[in-house]
Amino acid sequence: MTMVYKESIQNALAKVVDPTSGATLLTVAKVSGLVINEGNVSFSLEVDPAKGHAMEGLRKASEAAVLLISGVSSVKAVLTAHRGTVHPQQNRIPPRQAIPKIKSIIAVASGKGGVGKSTVATNLAIALSENGLKVGMLDADVYGPSLPRMMGIKHKSEIFKGKKILPLENHRIKCMSIGFLTAEDTPTIWRGPMVMGALEQMLRDVEWGELDLLVVDMPPGTGDAQITMAQRVPMAGAVIVSTPQDIALIDARKGLNMFRRVAVPILGIVENMSYFICPCCGKRSDIFGYEGARIEAKKLSVPFLGEIPLHLDIRVASDNGTPIVASKPLTSHGTAFTNIANKVKLAISGSC
Ligand code: ADP
Repeated sequence: MTMVYKESIQNALAKVVDPTSGATLLTVAKVSGLVINEGNVSFSLEVDPAKGHAMEGLRKASEAAVLLISGVSSVKAVLTAHRGTVHPQQNRIPPRQAIPKIKSIIAVASGKGGVGKSTVATNLAIALSENGLKVGMLDADVYGPSLPRMMGIKHKSEIFKGKKILPLENHRIKCMSIGFLTAEDTPTIWRGPMVMGALEQMLRDVEWGELDLLVVDMPPGTGDAQITMAQRVPMAGAVIVSTPQDIALIDARKGLNMFRRVAVPILGIVENMSYFICPCCGKRSDIFGYEGARIEAKKLSVPFLGEIPLHLDIRVASDNGTPIVASKPLTSHGTAFTNIANKVKLAISGSC
């Protein structure tokens, strides 16, 4: 049996963010009465009694964060009126701010690079637009922007209009990427605060117009940029992309935990490069194992959105700037993306 340590629980709770106010847990609550009984954990959150009702989201987020700790099998958090002092406004993150005229924002994320996150994001965006939504795409991967190439957008002129930045459009998707502002072969050296500044600008200073949905292609991993991004705008949910190998799944789990910690709902896991379809004979080979992400999704109690094969067409289509959903939508690998997009649309249907 895995031992559960008080410190792991305290560390996890310190990172929890109140989904209503955006404040970190320790600035608005005091943790007391922590009891660990084998894998069963219980604690109280002492909060300002006047705000007790508004703290339900924080209570749930704290339970979710502790449940993710290895060895924890059940968690009970209760809200109580605080007796002691709550530390004033330390670590306060500005509250999430919606972007006018954008009904919903979803993130497409992965625990590590190279798993096909951008490929999934672009194909999802196009499929959702085909499905009747007005869709925009933000390439938040400032270190390795791939949106210009994948969406077949090259020209960089006329991008500024007064103080606003104009998105560039192809396949009926309004797109914004740092790649529109920098030369393709120029290495971009960004530091944390600059990254955040650039992302905020690309979110808020772009003339998106009316959008039902903005698909954000997140940078890989779980660094500060991702966490801050998830904390700065209200997100309808996150799609996690993983390949079937165990190692990628471990990374995917980290990505998933990050969104849970900041109370962004997980729309589900997509398994990319799930199996290989031979372009010559069409034969299927499960070269990376079978159903890793589906099993993992079940274990983590998150929806499994579907499998995308490793197929030469998908790579060629993306490299040519006409993703498979736009170029060969009716192939089995094209419909694999469309089916996932339908599930995503259903999952966010309340918000866009
Ligand atoms: P990430 O955004 O995770 O770094 P990309 O979407 O850029 O990954 O994909 C990495 C490379 O793998 C690209 O060349 C892309 O065309 C290719 N690729 C992604 N998914 C598939 C797939 N299902 N079949 C074939 N090639 C793929």
